[in-house]
Amino acid sequence: MAILKIETLGSEVLRRRADEVEVVADDPETARLIEDMFETMYDAHGIGLAAPQVGISRRLIVVHVNEEDEKPFALFNPRVVEAGKAKEKGEEGCLSIPNVSALVERPAEVVVEGVDPKGNTVRIEADGMLARCLQHEIDHLDGILFLDRLSPLKRNMILKKYRKQES
Ligand SMILES: [Zn+2]
Repeated sequence: MAILKIETLGSEVLRRRADEVEVVADDPETARLIEDMFETMYDAHGIGLAAPQVGISRRLIVVHVNEEDEKPFALFNPRVVEAGKAKEKGEEGCLSIPNVSALVERPAEVVVEGVDPKGNTVRIEADGMLARCLQHEIDHLDGILFLDRLSPLKRNMILKKYRKQES
């Protein structure tokens, strides 16, 4: 296991559309990447991590929302197949934009489909923090950051704050 370097704002890989993955069940190299992504995520106290955040432009996310009975899982090629009409605002941060956060509005309930590491298709009906986390991580696979979901005014405020603490 290894802690991987997390790419931060300005890195080109965060803005690229990541490639679909052809999932080979129990592929050792992929299993190692998933383990490393979990270790990296826990080390940074995150609840989700997308492969582009560790410099790998592939459609893979790991998630562990520390709530109720939510278990950690890895998902390939995840996509939102249904989104509820109701929207909800919630606080979001991002391991690639450390130490800043903002209220982001997103659908409160989503259905996500993807492929698990064994190659099985899975369907997740999510609300609350899990729904938010899944949408945030899937955005990463399309080169979208939570900043892009804010009004220009709010985005500039967050960017100013971020740059100030970075310098
Ligand atoms: Zn993020």
